[in-house]
Amino acid sequence: MSTPTGSASPPAIHLPPAGRSPLRIAIAGAGLLGRLLALQLARAGHAVQVFDPAPDATGRGAAGWTAAGMLSPVAELESADDHVFALGLRSLALWPGLVAGLPGPVDVHQRGSLLLAHRGDEGAASRVVDLVRAKAPPEHAPRGLSAPALAELEPDLRGAPHAWLLPHEGQIDTVQAMGALAQGAMAAGAVFRWGQAVDAVAARSVRLGGQQLAFDWVFDVRGTGARPQLPVRGVRGEILHLHAPGVRLSRPIRLLHPRHRVYIVPRAGDRVLVGASEIESEDRSPISLRSTVELLAAAHSVLPALAEARVVHTETNLRPALPDNLPVLAVEAGLTQVNGLFRHGWLIAPALVERALHTLEPCA
Ligand SMILES: Cc1cc2nc3c(=O)[nH]c(=O)nc-3n(C[C@H](O)[C@H](O)[C@H](O)COP(=O)(O)OP(=O)(O)OC[C@H]3O[C@@H](n4cnc5c(N)ncnc54)[C@H](O)[C@@H]3O)c2cc1C
Repeated sequence: MSTPTGSASPPAIHLPPAGRSPLRIAIAGAGLLGRLLALQLARAGHAVQVFDPAPDATGRGAAGWTAAGMLSPVAELESADDHVFALGLRSLALWPGLVAGLPGPVDVHQRGSLLLAHRGDEGAASRVVDLVRAKAPPEHAPRGLSAPALAELEPDLRGAPHAWLLPHEGQIDTVQAMGALAQGAMAAGAVFRWGQAVDAVAARSVRLGGQQLAFDWVFDVRGTGARPQLPVRGVRGEILHLHAPGVRLSRPIRLLHPRHRVYIVPRAGDRVLVGASEIESEDRSPISLRSTVELLAAAHSVLPALAEARVVHTETNLRPALPDNLPVLAVEAGLTQVNGLFRHGWLIAPALVERALHTLEPCA
């Protein structure tokens, strides 16, 4: 398996050619998957319409907008399998090329990520690090860091004597990317039908407001909205946006805490994201006091410079998950369904979309 790097020229996504007769394509859902599909199908010359109940192109409401944007194939091995890992590596290689031609900047980089543990939490941390080390190829295995090495990488981190570097992990600014993907898809000719929820999908048709609309091919990427056609559930995640001028942080941090996982992700404009809870509930109400206290206390314990940061925004959303928590790509003639991206959508979406695009080839 090759190791992607930020500097290598990214491989191109294999696009199905529109050929002499472009297909009329419906995409149900304008979240992360829907935007990636719309961009590439429109660029390939197909006539693309995207339906979503959201009022506009910002992406707010989609899990993709809320996400922290960590691209963590190795750290996710704690709960994911080899398939997700492989999709993650492929996607890491695809992201730079995907965002390169978009209108508007999208921060995507690969400076690695850090796992940290407090003194006294060695047991819980070792379990995770050993598990990940056993599942990952040697070149991706966590590398223990000495205190001076950690201080050199991230001078503002304190209070966590155990640290490991995952050298090939990356991150993407999801808010920038959601906007730019939609703009890019529209520039390529995709038509977005905002405020329109698809009631049901079938091979070559969608049902919408009592009408059955015919297409050559339908992509169903409605996330949790695909129920009852898919047994998808929403897993609640809460996240806080901080304004933290002066705080030095270059890469995502995960604190391996025995009771909860906490990550800290830097963004442009002195923003820092602290997340995320993972609760088996479809409650989309605002973040709870308990999650706020636990997430921020844990973040402050390793990054005391956050003390004077301001909480400027909080988000709650649902990760679309199937019963086995693994992604699905289901295909029949005229219909492709992609769902269950759970907690690693940004990590694996480009590679899944690449595979989904291949499903069109027989009729292109
Ligand atoms: C708090 C949180 C943090 C996360 N952090 C990360 C991370 O760091 N890294 C990572 O890789 N992943 C992360 N994720 C996961 C990632 O966001 C999801 O896996 C990903 O967004 C799933 O993409 P999707 O396109 O399937 O769904 P979404 O992005 O949710 O898009 C689904 C779209 O379908 C639309 N829709 C719903 N019903 C209908 C209907 N009836 N008709 C038409 N459209 C409909 C919705 O409006 C929405 O726009 C996180 C998620 C959350 C909630």
